[in-house]
Amino acid sequence: AKRFGGDRVEPFRPAFRTAGSDKMQLESDLRRAIERGEISLAYQPIVRADDLSIAGFEALLRWNHPRRGEVQPAEFITLAERSELIVDLGNHALELAMRRLMDWDVLLPDADLFLSVNVSSQQVMGRDFANTLSNMQARFAHRKHTLRLEITETVLMQNPEHNAHVLEKVKSLGIGLAMDDFGTGYSSLAYLSKFPFDTIKLDQSLVRNQWAQRDILLQSVISMADNLGLSTVVEGVETEDDLVKLRKMGCRYIQGFIAGVPVNGSVATDMVAAQNPL
Ligand code: C2E
Ligand code: CA
Ligand code: CA
Ligand code: CA
Repeated sequence: AKRFGGDRVEPFRPAFRTAGSDKMQLESDLRRAIERGEISLAYQPIVRADDLSIAGFEALLRWNHPRRGEVQPAEFITLAERSELIVDLGNHALELAMRRLMDWDVLLPDADLFLSVNVSSQQVMGRDFANTLSNMQARFAHRKHTLRLEITETVLMQNPEHNAHVLEKVKSLGIGLAMDDFGTGYSSLAYLSKFPFDTIKLDQSLVRNQWAQRDILLQSVISMADNLGLSTVVEGVETEDDLVKLRKMGCRYIQGFIAGVPVNGSVATDMVAAQNPL
C-alpha cells in the first residue's frame, strides 16, 4: 500500500500481494477510467524541419490515476493490449481527437493542421474499424483539419488482404495513414508495398543510435521515402546538432523535445494561434 503514497493503513491487504494482482487491480481501474474522465490526450507538435513551424500534432494518451497519479502509456497500453480493452481505449482516443479537430475548426480557422492518432493493430483488425471511423467522420463534421492514424506492428501481416482492404477504405475517407516506429524491426519495407501509407515515422531509436553509420541509415530512409512520394517524420529529435544534420538530409518533418514536448489541448491550440496571428 506504501507505493500509493499515503500513510493510510489498509487492514486486510495480504502481505504477499503479488505484482500479478497489482496488474489486475490496475486493469480493473483502467476499465473504469474512461467513464470517470481520467483519460485524456496530450498533444506533441510535429513541425517543419526548416522553420520549426507546426504542421500538426501527435495525440498521446494520458491516464491520471486518482491514487497513482500519471500512469505511463507504456504501462497501461501494454496492459490494455492484452485484452479487448485496447479497442475501447483506442476508440476513446479517436473520439477525443475528433472533438479536438472540431474545436480547431472554430478556434483555428486559418491554420491547416493534421492530428495523428495512434491505433493498435487490434483496433484495425477488429470488426467494423472502417465503419467506426466513417461514423465518427460523419458525426464530428470537421472540415478544415485532418485526421491521421499511426499504425505499427507486424500483426497487420497476419491477414494482409483483409487489412489492406480496411486501410484502403480508411484512406478513402480522407484519413491519412502513417507507418509508425519505422526501423524498430516491427515495421518493414514490405508494409510500404502492401498498405496505403502516405507517411513514415522514423522511430526515435534510430536517432538515438550511437552507431557510426547512423547518418547513412537516416539519409537512406529519408531519400527512399522521398523517392516513393512518402512524407517522413523523424521522431525523438532532441539536439540542435541532429536537427541541422536532418535538414541537410532533406528531412521535412520532425517531432521531438527540441521542437516541443507533449502539452494539453488548450496549450496546443494557443501554440498554433500564436503562430497564425489574425
Ligand atoms: P510512440 O507512438 O512512439 O510515441 C512517441 C513517444 O516518444 C511519446 O511517448 C513521446 O512523448 C516520446 N517522445 C517524443 N519526442 C521525444 C524526444 O525528443 N525524446 C524522448 N526521449 N521521447 C520523446 P509517450 O507519450 O510515453 O507514448 C509512448 C507510446 O505509447 C507511444 O509511442 C505509443 O506507442 C503508445 N501510445 C500513446 N498513445 C496511444 C494511443 O492512443 N493508442 C495506442 N495504441 N498507443 C498509444
Ligand atoms: Ca506514434
Ligand atoms: Ca508506437
Ligand atoms: Ca516511436
